[in-house]
Amino acid sequence: MDVPFFDCHSHNPSRQGELVIVQADVERMVTDDASSPAFSSFSVKNVSSGNCCSTLPRSNKSPISYISIGLHPWDVERFDINKVFNTFVNNLQNDENHHIVAIGECGLDKLCTTSLDLQREVFIKHVELSERFSLPVIVHCVKAMDELLRLRREMRPTLPWIWHGFRGKPQQMHQLLDAGMYISFGFRHNAQSIAECPVERMLFETDCDERPVSLLYEQTGISPKGIKIFFP
Ligand SMILES: [Zn+2]
Repeated sequence: MDVPFFDCHSHNPSRQGELVIVQADVERMVTDDASSPAFSSFSVKNVSSGNCCSTLPRSNKSPISYISIGLHPWDVERFDINKVFNTFVNNLQNDENHHIVAIGECGLDKLCTTSLDLQREVFIKHVELSERFSLPVIVHCVKAMDELLRLRREMRPTLPWIWHGFRGKPQQMHQLLDAGMYISFGFRHNAQSIAECPVERMLFETDCDERPVSLLYEQTGISPKGIKIFFP
């Protein structure tokens, strides 16, 4: 049976033929009727269900759109946080077909001007959603690894946290792996880190890149076998 090329984080809803978690557009989610599901914001079919999806439990639905919902740290001050989280909860509660498969991207970013206290507060709300709805978290973290790991120790999450777009060196990666995190690599990555990452803790993503994720598997020589697919 074919193993799908899994892309755990993409902002490009027009990609076809791969198993992709697409980032939902928060702007549209909150401006549309709050009761309308996040996936209605996607008029395009995100993933065509070829046989690549036949291994999935919900393969009977075609086409399949998988999305993640979360507030990027750079967007925290643009929105009314309570309204955003009410919309998220609404969507999660009404997501009968399980289109929402992850929380995020969300996290901590010391390059953005929003105070770290506020970022932390909002990130914690995402982690709470992750635990409540049993969904993994896609983490955006820039220059705040110690803070992230400290939060992780305090919160003791039971669901996976995926560090998205990891570009660091092996030493930094091992700290994350030791803390129980998963590592998602994009086209910009440290090759030695990929070489040292156990495949069962490794993921690939295209983020804003329009190239197919299969190219990343090809370039790195990693087989999609053994790559964990996060679905409820
Ligand atoms: Zn992203």
